[in-house]
Parts: sequence; C-alpha cells; structure tokens
Amino acid sequence: MEKIYDIVIIGGGPAGMTAAIYAQRAGMKCVILEKMAVGGQVALTPRIENYPGFKVIDGISLSQNIMEQTMGLGAEIDYVEAFDIDFSGEMKKVKTKDVTYVAYAVILAMGASARALGTKEDARFAGKGLSYCAICDGAFFKDKVVAVVGGGNSAFQDIEYLSTFAKKIIHINRRSEFRADNANLETYNKLKNQKDSKIEAYLGYVIESLKGDKVLEGLMLRNLKTNELVEVKADGLFVAIGRVPQTEILDKRLKLDETGYVTVDQHMKTNLDGIFACGDITHKTLRQIATATGDGAIAGISASSYVKSVRGV
Ligand code: NAP
Repeated sequence: MEKIYDIVIIGGGPAGMTAAIYAQRAGMKCVILEKMAVGGQVALTPRIENYPGFKVIDGISLSQNIMEQTMGLGAEIDYVEAFDIDFSGEMKKVKTKDVTYVAYAVILAMGASARALGTKEDARFAGKGLSYCAICDGAFFKDKVVAVVGGGNSAFQDIEYLSTFAKKIIHINRRSEFRADNANLETYNKLKNQKDSKIEAYLGYVIESLKGDKVLEGLMLRNLKTNELVEVKADGLFVAIGRVPQTEILDKRLKLDETGYVTVDQHMKTNLDGIFACGDITHKTLRQIATATGDGAIAGISASSYVKSVRGV
C-alpha cells in the first residue's frame, strides 16, 4: 500500500516534530514516522532545565506538549519503522513493513542511539542487569548496587535518578574530567560529598568485562594508567557513554562527515535533492533540544520551499 504526502519526516523527536510544525504551517501535508515513542532521547530525560520557556520540565511532558502542538496543526504520526528510502526519483519513497510513504521531500530526524558498551558479554547480560535507560529500568534496582559508566550529562542525570532507588552507585569514567554541564556537576558533587554518600567513583577506569552467572553480578574494571584490574560487585549497569547517529537505512550517496553524522548546509539540505536533515543526526557542535528544534524549524521551511518549487504551487 502507498500513502502520499508532501513531506515525510523520519523521527518523532523535537527536531522532527518541529519540522512538522513549520511545514504544516507552510501548507504542507506531513507525516512523521516514529518507531518507538515521540520525544526520542528527550522522553528518557527526567529533568530538563535548559529549554527556554520552562524553568524545569520532565522529558515526557515536553514531548507530549510538542506532539499535541504538531498534531493540532494536522500533521500525522504513524508508529512504524522505516527500513529503506528510495531517493532516486522526483517522488521519494520511504518503505516500512506494510506501507510505502511517497513524498516530494524527506526530512531525516532519526537522531542518535546509545553507543554500545562493547564488551564480549554485552549480549549475554542485555536485560539481565545491563541497561541503557535508567528512567526505564532504574526502579528494578531498589536497594541494589548499580554502576553507571560515562561522564556526560546523561551519566550524571542517571546517577541522580538512580540515587533515589539504589543503595550504592559505582561511577566509572575513563577520565577524571567530565563533559557534563555545571548544573549536573553541582548535583553530582552534592550527592558525592554528603555524609554516607552512595557514590563510589572509579575515574580513569574502563569496563573490561561483565561478570555473573545468569544475571549480572559484577564488573571487571581496568585502570587505564596502571592496567591494574579491579573486580566490583554490581547488580545493574547503566551505560551512558554517548550516542551514535542512526544512519543505517541511508543510501550510500548521502554525504556523511568522518564520524558518520549527516552533512547539511545552513538550510538543512543534504547533498541529495529533496532530502533534508535536522537534529542529532546531523553534523553540529551542540546537540541540545534547543538546537534540535532550531534545526527542525529550518528544515521544515526549507523542505516546504523545495516542495513548492518542484510541485509548481
Ligand atoms: P557525551 O556528552 O558525549 O558523553 C559521553 C561520555 O562517555 C564521556 O564521558 C566520554 O568520555 C565517555 N565515553 C565515550 N565513549 C566511551 C567508551 N567507548 N568507553 C567509555 N567511555 C566512553 O554523551 P551523553 O551524556 O550521552 O550526551 C549526549 C548529548 O546529549 C550531549 O550533547 C549532552 O549535552 C546532551 N544531553 C543533555 C542533557 C541536558 O539535560 N542538558 C541531558 C542528557 C544529554 P570522554 O569525555 O573521554 O570522551
């Protein structure tokens, strides 16, 4: 079955939804294809304090607000996974299991997914102690020992969130310097410096292997300076070591940068006619909700102008 639109947007995070808001307001008929839930990474963020207009808001509420605004303007959201895009003709084709979506323009807003830990035991302990989502799985570790690996905002927010459940948090980072911003660092330092702190930090360490019989029971850590190995007990491990762009379904002709992010110009145009990209999937210096929505607005307007130019109205 085919469904025809002016613009197909792949990805229902803040970038994709904002692109739909701007394109609908420019008179386009848009559909957003989302494989999980709207909001993307944002929906997994417990507390957002740097999105203008909200002193503090949780990720699910912000995602719902943007979704209501997007749908209120007439954009459709289909919960399907795109697995192929045919960029060749004037009408682009986005294939999903049951439906092929046909449109003049496609906006790529698939974002980035969690970087895998990369130990030999990853698959064995997936869902058996190894998690990439503290907000989804944290409550299973009430009064247990958990580890968090990473030194960016995600890891620090995971530690704060898990501190309400876990009896002890082992924090592992490969450097003693962190990427997290000051607000998250301050909260971390407060938790770490308080009397009877639950946090035990292993800075300058990496995870060499995961230990356990049927479920995760511990981690083997390696000190990067001395190569010394240390085994720590842990019932859960939350991985927050950055993200990788979701570009698997893209045509090889689409230009990516050396780290795999989609290259766009200031109009969010890719190197292929009718293909635009916005948000975390693109090459950029700052990946935040504010920059994702900014990109989305530009992509929505640029794609609408493109559709008008090829359609002749
Ligand atoms: P990130 O900021 O890129 O931090 C990744 C962390 O993982 C760094 O400490 C990095 O170490 C470490 N790392 C990377 N690869 C590793 C590996 N193979 N093994 C061990 N450690 C590794 O990632 P993030 O925290 O997921 O954040 C992603 C983006 O979302 C960032 O732009 C962040 O600011 C944003 N974000 C914002 C908020 C917010 O509320 N404002 C919340 C969450 C995320 P090195 O430093 O040594 O590279």
